[in-house]
Amino acid sequence: MSRHHPHRSVNDDLVSMRAAIDELDRAEVADAIETIGFECTDCGACCRGDDADEHVATVFPDEARQLMEEDEQFRDVVQPMPFGLGHDGTGVTIEWSLPTDDCGDCRFLKFEDEQSHCTRYDRRPSICRTYPFTLRDSPEAAPQGEAIETVGPVVAHECEGLGTHIDRASALTLADELIERARRSIEEGMSVRGHLAQQVPDTAASTVVIDSEGPKTAAGTPIDDERPQR
Ligand code: SF4
Repeated sequence: MSRHHPHRSVNDDLVSMRAAIDELDRAEVADAIETIGFECTDCGACCRGDDADEHVATVFPDEARQLMEEDEQFRDVVQPMPFGLGHDGTGVTIEWSLPTDDCGDCRFLKFEDEQSHCTRYDRRPSICRTYPFTLRDSPEAAPQGEAIETVGPVVAHECEGLGTHIDRASALTLADELIERARRSIEEGMSVRGHLAQQVPDTAASTVVIDSEGPKTAAGTPIDDERPQR
């Protein structure tokens, strides 16, 4: 049975999702994670693109600012989400993604001594902290790709670390992060919807990114700030 009623708005769906997330019990989420089992092998597969598509991972605006080194700007740590943009990167899109290299892999992924590692590991966004899991009642579940397994409220996505042991403390930490991420995703989605309902201001920018803070250029500059001061 479809969970989407044809007459419901996206906002109604987000409100329902938030109610479902608010009712979740962290112990139940942790139980499901323990049942599925997980230990990251640092294979780096979740940080790479595949033959057809570059790596895509949503980054919220405050998470982007956390990723920035002192000498970096917003545009150095994220790129506009490609969905909705033309091949030349112009158009209007929603949200930001981790930046990719020429191979389509996350630019923060490095290989040393035949091992992959994340150069921003301690500041990585919540989508990286919670992979390979999402919550069933979260807007994040579908964009993460095919579901490999669903146990209770938890959906597991493709990952070679699934099916291994996870201790209770780690499962609880992951459960808290998953619930928090689901809440954030819903709040971000609602804010973006609010900005989408308004007209995008006049701009010379060929690429417009609408995030929870409003419309921005591809460099992350608020488009309202671009307007000539009167
Ligand atoms: S795909 Fe799974 S095992 Fe590989 S780096 Fe990502 S989370 Fe770890």
